[in-house]
Amino acid sequence: MENNVKDKLVYPSTPLNVIEEFFPGENTYVDDEKGLIRASIVGKPFWDNAARLIKVVPTRKRRYVVPRENSVVVGVIQNIRTDFLLATIIGMYDNKKIIPTGPFAGVLHISQVSQEYVKSLYDLFAVGDVILAKTMNNYNPYNLSTKAPGLGVILSSCGYCGHVLLFREGKLVCPRCKSSFSRLVSKNYYNIMMQKELKP
Ligand SMILES: [Zn+2]
Repeated sequence: MENNVKDKLVYPSTPLNVIEEFFPGENTYVDDEKGLIRASIVGKPFWDNAARLIKVVPTRKRRYVVPRENSVVVGVIQNIRTDFLLATIIGMYDNKKIIPTGPFAGVLHISQVSQEYVKSLYDLFAVGDVILAKTMNNYNPYNLSTKAPGLGVILSSCGYCGHVLLFREGKLVCPRCKSSFSRLVSKNYYNIMMQKELKP
């Protein structure tokens, strides 16, 4: 007899068969009350007719990650004006790691940048900077804020030679050409990106 795989997805508690006809295999459980074998995960059911075994093969689809309100997101600045900037959201910081998302659109208005007075966004950001920001709504495009502690620029490169800037004595400095730049630097500058690199 052939093995039988159904393309239809089953979900936790979906009944698969009566217990008399098959044995419960991987990712299933027996519902004693009704004498049924039920799925315990999301996946595709698999009937092994020779072994009289039923199991569920997990779908390997990655969970779709979408920022919600108050999510901490990672964005790359695409465009700057005096009073707002546009960023492409590429990740979400969750459970001590950056999870890739999107891409989604993010808008950071000058009123949401800092608790302190900001004259122009050109003084604090540059195109290409990677920022850590908080979402203020739960749909795309996202309104962003960098007011909370720890948010701001987390990676930036030299405007003259392109080298990654280092944070030294309150300033971003280019180790190659020694130029310095002013930014709204996050306390997580550089380190958070390196943490991501270490994760597979
Ligand atoms: Zn440089």
